[in-house]
Amino acid sequence: MESRQWQVGDVRITKIVERESRIPAGGPGLPGASLEELHAIDWLVPQWMDENDAFTTSVHSLLVETPDGRRIVVDTGIGNDKPRRIPSWNRMSTDFLERFERVWPRESVDIVLCTHLHVDHVGWNTMLVDGAWVPTFPNARHCFVRSEYEHWRVEAESPSGGYSDWANDMIDGVSVFRDSVEPVADAGLVTFVEADASITPDVRLMPTAGHTPGHVSVVIESRGERAVVAGDLFHFAAQIARPEWSSSLDHDPRESAVTRRAFLTEMAETGSLVFGSHLNGPTAGRIVPDGAGFVFRT
Ligand SMILES: [Zn+2]
Repeated sequence: MESRQWQVGDVRITKIVERESRIPAGGPGLPGASLEELHAIDWLVPQWMDENDAFTTSVHSLLVETPDGRRIVVDTGIGNDKPRRIPSWNRMSTDFLERFERVWPRESVDIVLCTHLHVDHVGWNTMLVDGAWVPTFPNARHCFVRSEYEHWRVEAESPSGGYSDWANDMIDGVSVFRDSVEPVADAGLVTFVEADASITPDVRLMPTAGHTPGHVSVVIESRGERAVVAGDLFHFAAQIARPEWSSSLDHDPRESAVTRRAFLTEMAETGSLVFGSHLNGPTAGRIVPDGAGFVFRT
């Protein structure tokens, strides 16, 4: 499995892929997008949509090393051994952690940032040891946005059922909170932060609610260069072309569409290097205005 590296000023970013897959386009993942409309976006094929009309997608972590030597993990994937309703994610077993540790020993991580607390962004917060979920990064401050944590804590106690069955199975909120979020809080490793918090002199959060109530993007600025990890503001590159297309996993699809357009407009204006949290291959690129939408230039 590939890993890629970028330099943003004095900050180094390394991608460790946990899993890449293909998802049929024109299906429940992006309900507003018909195949006909997708075919009209000529830059999607072959990188972001293949010849068989499947979106290419990735789950990965970004390892961010700042000039003051801080080691930050942005999003921690699905994890191993977790009981999940989605068959391909159920009790997964990958060599993700081995590959991660070729870059950094897990004990050396200082900070874990989760753009939001969904199943594929918190998984490696914990690992299974002697039948118990223990923190994978025992020396890291896990910075969770307070409103996001509160939302999922309440959801885990009494699920609101506000999603379709398909989305509920994907999100699996109760199990995820119990095995991948609560154990790090119980271990005293969580620092609650606001959605616009500064994390280090070079790294800060940017509120981008919609996909989840406390969803954030991560802004990295160093020596006049700027990179932004989008999180799940978009799952597929097609949503850059058509920002009005929201995912059926979005908590508030209308808010997500408004946030996505504002975000893409700002990224285009600032020439930021944008990292897609589920974009495979090149993963990062610039946003360029194109008619009513945008193009992703890698
Ligand atoms: Zn995700």
